Amino acid sequence: MTLRRIHRPAWAVLAVFCAWSLSAQPAPKITPPKDALGFNIGDDYQMASYSQLDAYWHTLAKESDRMKLVDMGPTEEGRRQYMAVISSPANLKQLDHYREISRRLARAEDLTDEQAHALARDGKAIVWIDGGLHASETVGSQQLMEWVYQMVSRTDPETMRFLNDCIFLDVQANPDGQELVANWYMRGSENPKAPLKDPQARNMGGLPRLWAKYIGHDDNRDFYMSNMKETTNMNRAMFVEWYPQIVYNHHQSGPAGTVIFMPPFRDPFNFNFDPLIPLDIEAVGTAMHSRLVAEGKGGSVMRSGTGYSTWWNGGLRTISYFHNMIGILTEIIGGPTPQTIPLVADKQLPSGDWPMPIAPQEWHYRQSIDCR
Ligand SMILES: [Zn+2]
Repeated sequence: MTLRRIHRPAWAVLAVFCAWSLSAQPAPKITPPKDALGFNIGDDYQMASYSQLDAYWHTLAKESDRMKLVDMGPTEEGRRQYMAVISSPANLKQLDHYREISRRLARAEDLTDEQAHALARDGKAIVWIDGGLHASETVGSQQLMEWVYQMVSRTDPETMRFLNDCIFLDVQANPDGQELVANWYMRGSENPKAPLKDPQARNMGGLPRLWAKYIGHDDNRDFYMSNMKETTNMNRAMFVEWYPQIVYNHHQSGPAGTVIFMPPFRDPFNFNFDPLIPLDIEAVGTAMHSRLVAEGKGGSVMRSGTGYSTWWNGGLRTISYFHNMIGILTEIIGGPTPQTIPLVADKQLPSGDWPMPIAPQEWHYRQSIDCR
């Protein structure tokens, strides 16, 4: 059985031009982030902690019939790591059924081609989207909160199609790190005598330690050996329970003079994979670039735009390739303190690997959230 047969429904999440739509549905009563946090996701000088994410997701899970909150297990600091499973209400009622289809297709044991085709037709695309793995790369955790809010609140035809065709597994990859980094950035916000009461004085400087209890920044070097509780929680969800067809892992930062790296990756690709893997990474990545350009959002780069490849084998994204999953990496600029996109001359002339350059300019957090 080929990967192409397995992941055919996954195209649902990528097709930006709707062929059909569900009938309009009444807008659910959903608490927007500003009502829960006191600020919009992506507002300058604001960042939500994991405690806030935890509370907000519990609120959304109560309000929405599109979301099921799953407790994945403990973190190393004793928090609970949550996964927001999002799909249509009808799909959520049959989660076990769709998970079993995904598992059978991925394992391909005692399965004829005809049975595999039938399962692919019946199944839903299982799409893993994480955020916050490297907690100082703060776009990841915040975009995850915004994405979940939009998926449980929007009623446009494209969103309704996503919900019908896909089951999204939305995972905060490093809860302890988000708590540490957000509380550090926002320090003083509750104390009128604190020196950083002025929001514009907030900064990440002097963070007292790294963002994973035992392994610092190497929480993305643990997926082949699963030493940490968070890694075990995620590996179990990906490779024992759900077998997602797409694994989307967020990082920072984008190359200088650009906004975001997205696949395709540079050559040579890792030829230990099935050759359909690099082809399908390219197909998904190209759809992502096309969507940004169609929305007038320049500054995305691929391939020779930077050095990211498919060769390091122990990370959240890269290990997925050995399970025939489409692993997507993005590396984006941005943070709660506004920054400037510098002039990098060779990124100003369009090329096949950066088709729509972006001019040097001030850049705000929300712009990164809107490119996620
Ligand atoms: Zn990173």
